[in-house]
Amino acid sequence: MALKSKSSCFQSITLLLIISFLSFLKTNAQDLCGTYELYQEMMKNDPIFRIKQEKSKTQASARSQFQGIVTIPVVVHVVYNNEAENVSDEQIYSQIEVLNEDFGNVISSPTMWSDVAANPQMEFCLATRDINGNATCGITRTYTDSTVFRIQTSVKDESTGGISGWPATDYLNIFVCDIANVRGYATFPDAEDSIDGIVIDYLSFGRGAQFNFSDPRFNLGRTGTHEVGHWLRLSHIWGDGGCDIDDGISDTPSSPGPNYGCAIGSLACRGDSLNMVQNYMDYSDDGCMNLFTQGQVNLMRKAFDVRGSRVSILSSKGCDAPAQNDVHFTINFDEFPQDMRWELLNSSNTTVASDGNFDPGDEVLNIPPPLANKSKLYSWDLPDGTYNLKFYDSFGDGFPQGSYEIRSIYNEVIISGPGTFTSELTIPFTVNKSKYRFIGGLNNDWYNPANWNRFSYPSECYNDVIIIEADCEVDQLSLSEQKNLVIKDGAVLTVKQ
Ligand SMILES: [Zn+2]
Repeated sequence: MALKSKSSCFQSITLLLIISFLSFLKTNAQDLCGTYELYQEMMKNDPIFRIKQEKSKTQASARSQFQGIVTIPVVVHVVYNNEAENVSDEQIYSQIEVLNEDFGNVISSPTMWSDVAANPQMEFCLATRDINGNATCGITRTYTDSTVFRIQTSVKDESTGGISGWPATDYLNIFVCDIANVRGYATFPDAEDSIDGIVIDYLSFGRGAQFNFSDPRFNLGRTGTHEVGHWLRLSHIWGDGGCDIDDGISDTPSSPGPNYGCAIGSLACRGDSLNMVQNYMDYSDDGCMNLFTQGQVNLMRKAFDVRGSRVSILSSKGCDAPAQNDVHFTINFDEFPQDMRWELLNSSNTTVASDGNFDPGDEVLNIPPPLANKSKLYSWDLPDGTYNLKFYDSFGDGFPQGSYEIRSIYNEVIISGPGTFTSELTIPFTVNKSKYRFIGGLNNDWYNPANWNRFSYPSECYNDVIIIEADCEVDQLSLSEQKNLVIKDGAVLTVKQ
């Protein structure tokens, strides 16, 4: 009995000590970045992430294979509880500008490091096209009841007052919210898609005297630069440990810990070298930072090599023009999907999409084809025109128990039917029903069809300009009679024929 109570007393004291230690960590005002804390958490709880990280350490420090400029489409998710947190479009533009300067080496590096400083050659663009092919301004705004989001994944999840990011295969997600005790944090590559991205506190976001910052030392947007460095696998230059821990980069001098302010002249672990306090991956003030090294650039760019963790970004359409006709094609297969294939031909008889060779399963092992009696959905972005959808069946009996359907983005059925044919079936169809939307200021020429964009959903980025929707073909527009219309900013006029 006595022993038991002694033991629980000991446990309580231990627990108390742990809690005190944790709250010390949480309240440490010098802890500017929460990436390492999140990283440790993921290494502990996510075995797949852990294996991938171990593997990445073996990556050679050789130059990456991919040459040329890397373009990274960005979507900024503003999650706000009050108007101060709802940062303006201008503040967002200023952060993108800083990323483009720092990753494009626009700010010249100090001569003391000129032998190792390097240009990452990366560009950041606010997305112009969303995952559905619609026009976007690359900004989402979400009101939340949550007053604060700590270092975890809650800002990336609707159920906890946040918002889901866009696919990390195509976009860099930047979340802006109130994080409370750090300025920002990021996920390393190989995190799950649903939590990928960087998070920046609204009081450390962007650059400009007209915006709100919690601390003037961090008002030049370098929190963003630092977190994007993590997003591309860079560690802090002190390796988040003492002199016995390195950041894995050979040309950043090993530092005993983070440097604050602008401690130029302080000594690195080996006394004959200076600390690289100007490195974006240190904790120095924004105005002190101005370089990535060649080793850091090599590691970041490795993400875009053939099997790199972020190579899919290179083929992202996130900064392309909005899609033309976003068309959705569904096949409902019968029992034998392995017998059939399909192709889509344009009016010049060129194949613009096709699929086939579907998995037959294994008859001997009694494994049915995975798509048997299932549906498959495809999305196409088609210019106006006439098309032929062709089905082929190698067994010569079509797929009469199955069916097909093509719908427009407005969910209108363009063609549909059962798979009743023998060896070949051709179905012609036309897409030319796009809706048009004018986006421009009061002084723009709204009679000129060139100023009319394809259908897009209203975006808050356009809330101070006129938006006119028209449910007609662009060459059918005849708006000369509307000259004397008085339209106030933000008004929506629908012209229907
Ligand atoms: Zn950091």
